[in-house]
Amino acid sequence: MNLLAGKKALVFGVANKYSIAWAIAEAFHQQGAEVGLSYGIPQLEKRVRPLAAEIGATFVEKCDVTSDDELDATFAKAADHFGRLDILVHSVAYAPSEELEGRFYDTSREGFRIALDISAYSFVALARRARPLMPDGGCMLTMTYYGAEKVVPHYNVMGVAKAALEASTRYLAADLGPENIRVNAISAGPIKTLAAAGIAGFRKMLGYVGERAPLRRNIDQEEVAKTALWLCSDLGSGVTGEIVYVDAGYHILGMPEPPEKWE
Ligand code: NAD
Repeated sequence: MNLLAGKKALVFGVANKYSIAWAIAEAFHQQGAEVGLSYGIPQLEKRVRPLAAEIGATFVEKCDVTSDDELDATFAKAADHFGRLDILVHSVAYAPSEELEGRFYDTSREGFRIALDISAYSFVALARRARPLMPDGGCMLTMTYYGAEKVVPHYNVMGVAKAALEASTRYLAADLGPENIRVNAISAGPIKTLAAAGIAGFRKMLGYVGERAPLRRNIDQEEVAKTALWLCSDLGSGVTGEIVYVDAGYHILGMPEPPEKWE
């Protein structure tokens, strides 16, 4: 299959080979897309460049999404390099680690600001710059988590940021729909990545979900990437403003059955 033949995709958020963004970049490349990568901090370059080489990506740019200057520069370079874009992937999130342990009521003003800026506003900042590069329509995609809608231990301010991100997805979808630009989010179940390692008790969370989810297992990066593929290809042509769950069904449960069966 060549679901993305001739398409150009810009992917933000590759830190290493475990990143969800990397699985998506690989899947897009396998389906014929030309992929560009952007990473957040200089120290990641040594990991991201070899990955980029694996998929023949020649557009590899550092962009701190908190900086309007870096965002402008990155999209100016993307315009030169690609001419136009079909797909934008936002797979970026951050909150100071002290905000991801303890109690939500202890969230600092600065921690709240940073989490919302990097994890939610940045999608809006990317979307407004990608829009002029999508004159014939396109697809924008972000990554969210169930902690946006239900309380998950230690997810704290990141849950609030993801709620803002999901609302932003809907507002962007309504704004950009008339221009044939679709905007969606994938709500992934827990996966062991660099970002996840910052959440206190993450290993226990993986075990808890894996034992109770309807599919009785966790999901992986490739499964998120497969959903990204249908959403961003013609297979998803009628879908916008959606939060699509790739979580082995965990979010449908009102009361998860414990591993030891109830009779
Ligand atoms: P990851 O650590 O590989 O990716 C997070 C990325 O955000 C990194 O590449 C990091 O460099 C980037 N980033 C942070 N601050 C930045 C900044 N200021 N500018 C630019 N980039 C910045 O981890 P991941 O799990 O692949 O996370 C990707 C997305 O998926 C995040 O939005 C995360 O919340 C979401 N998600 C992850 C899980 C999970 O369990 N791993 C579950 C649901 C959703």
